[in-house]
Amino acid sequence: MASSNGNGNDSGNGNGKRSLPQIGADPVANLPAIEGFPASEKVYVEADGLKVPVRRIHLSGGEPAFDVYDTSGPQGVDPHHGLPKLRKPWIDARLAEGDTGNRTQMHYARRGIITPEMRFVALRESVTPEFVRDEIARGRAILPANINHPESEPMIIGSKFLVKINANIGNSAVTSTIGEEVDKLRWAVKWGADTVMDLSTGKNIHETREWILRNSPVPIGTVPIYQCLEKVGGDPEKLNIDLFIDTLIEQAEQGVDYFTIHAGVRLAYIPYTANRTTGIVSRGGSIMAKWCLAHHKENFLYTEFERICEVMKKYDVAFSLGDGLRPGSIADANDRAQLAELETLGELTDIAWKHDVQTMIEGPGHVPMHKIKENVDLQMKLCKEAPFYTLGPLVTDIAPGYDHITSAIGAAMIGWFGTAMLCYVTPKEHLGLPNRDDVKAGVIAYKIAAHAADLAKGHPGAQRRDDALSKARFEFRWQDQFHLSLDPDTAKDFHDETLPAPAAKGAHFCSMCGPKFCSMRITEEVRELAAKQEVEAGLAQKAAEFREGGQRLYAGSDDHHH
Ligand code: SF4
Repeated sequence: MASSNGNGNDSGNGNGKRSLPQIGADPVANLPAIEGFPASEKVYVEADGLKVPVRRIHLSGGEPAFDVYDTSGPQGVDPHHGLPKLRKPWIDARLAEGDTGNRTQMHYARRGIITPEMRFVALRESVTPEFVRDEIARGRAILPANINHPESEPMIIGSKFLVKINANIGNSAVTSTIGEEVDKLRWAVKWGADTVMDLSTGKNIHETREWILRNSPVPIGTVPIYQCLEKVGGDPEKLNIDLFIDTLIEQAEQGVDYFTIHAGVRLAYIPYTANRTTGIVSRGGSIMAKWCLAHHKENFLYTEFERICEVMKKYDVAFSLGDGLRPGSIADANDRAQLAELETLGELTDIAWKHDVQTMIEGPGHVPMHKIKENVDLQMKLCKEAPFYTLGPLVTDIAPGYDHITSAIGAAMIGWFGTAMLCYVTPKEHLGLPNRDDVKAGVIAYKIAAHAADLAKGHPGAQRRDDALSKARFEFRWQDQFHLSLDPDTAKDFHDETLPAPAAKGAHFCSMCGPKFCSMRITEEVRELAAKQEVEAGLAQKAAEFREGGQRLYAGSDDHHH
C-alpha cells in the first residue's frame, strides 16, 4: 500500500528514476511525447495569492491573445516522480488548524469556510468564492479533492458551472500496460478531460492506479468493486462489506477522488430487469445483482452505506452513486428498474449529506432524445439537485463504431438540461478497449457536447471562443481558425490535404467551394461594393447639397469677391 499520512505520499523525492512502484521493465520508458498546442503557451494567471493555469492562444491580425480553460497540468515533469503537490500546504494547514476527522470540502463549506481549493475554482470559473462555497454547502456542486491527491488542480462539478467531461482509461485482463494507461491519462487531459476514471480490472490494479494518481492533474475516479472482485478470484458471491471497506481505504490512501458505488441496486429491483432487451449492462450493477441473488440478501453496499460514508469523509472521497440498473438499449430507457434505482440514489444522497460527504449521481446510458429531459427532471427532484453525471446517453443503438457521435448528441442535450458532467464514450464502445486515437476522438466529441451545452445554458463568456473563431474564419486568418479550434491538428491537416502551399494560408477561399464560389469572399466583395456605393451615394448627396447650397456659397463668394 502507498505510504500516506493524510498529507500525500512522498513519491517526488528525486532519488533517481525509480520512485513509483515498478513491475519488470520501466513502464514509462517509451512513452510518446505529448506535444503542446500550436501558437499556445501555458500561462498561470496570478490572483488572490493563487496561480491558475490557462492556455493562451496567440492570434494574428492585431487580435488579442485568447485564454482557454486548461486541464493539462504542469508540463515536462518526469512521470517517475509525479507532479508537484500543489495542494499539500493547504491540506497540511487545514489539518493543523483543527482537524475534526471530517475533511470534506462540503464539511468546510457548511461551516462557512472558504478553502483555497474553492478560491482556485472561483478564479477558474470566473465566479465569486462565496458562490462556490454556497453551491458546495447545499450539495448542488462537488469539488473532488482527496487529501491524498495533492497533485490535483481544483475543479468543480455542478449545474451552475461549466459542463465538465470525464474520460475513462484503465487496462483490462486482456490488454494494455501501465505505460499505455499513463500515456492515455496525459493524452486525455491534453485534449480537455476534466476528470479521468481508472477502470482497470486486470493485474497490477494497485500499481497502475499509483502511477495514474501521481501523474494526474485532474481528479481520478474508480469503481472499487472491480478490485474487490479481483481479490476474490472473480467470484461475486465471495464479496463482503469488510473486503469492500478495506479496498476503499486502500484506494482512498492512494488518493482516489471519487468512487462509483452501486448501492442503489436493491434486491427487489433485480426482477424488474428480467424482461429487458439488454438486462443489466453496468459491470458493477451486474456484480452486485449476482451477489444479491446468490445470497438472497439486500445489497451490502446499501445496508452498510453509513460505514462507507465514514471512509469517504475521512479522506474527502466523493460519491459517484452508480446507476447499476441503467438502460443498455433504447428499448429499456426510463424503465421501472432504472427509475426505482434513481429513487434509492436520492435516499442515499440524504444519508451522504448527513455526513457532509460530497455526492454526485450517475445516469444513463441509452436514451432516445424525447426521453432525455425526463431523466434530468426526475434526477433533480429525487436527488435534490445533487450533480448529475451521465454516460452519454446514446440516442440510438444502430451505429457501433460511431458511438462517440450517437452519445455526444445525447450528451449535448442532457448537458443543456442541467447535467453537470458528461462521461465520454469512444468509437470503440461495445467493441473493444479504446486506444490512444479513440481516447482523443471521445474527448473531442465530448468537448463539443459540453461546450454546446454551455452555449445553450447561456453560460457567461461561453460564446467568446465561437465569436473569435468565426471572426478569424470570416477574415481568412486560417492559422487563427486552426489555433482556436478544439483540435487544431486535424483542422490544419484537412485544410492541407487539398491546399498544402503556405500561400493558401492567406488565400480568401478554400477547396470546398473554390475561389469563384467562395461565399465568404463574395460577401467580402458585397460589403466592399456596398461600402463603395455608400461612399458614392454619400458623394452624390454631398454634390447635390453642394449644388443646392452652392448658389449661396457661390453667391457668398461672389459677394466676397465683389
Ligand atoms: S471556399 Fe467555401 S468553405 Fe472555403 S472559405 Fe470560402 S466559403 Fe468557406
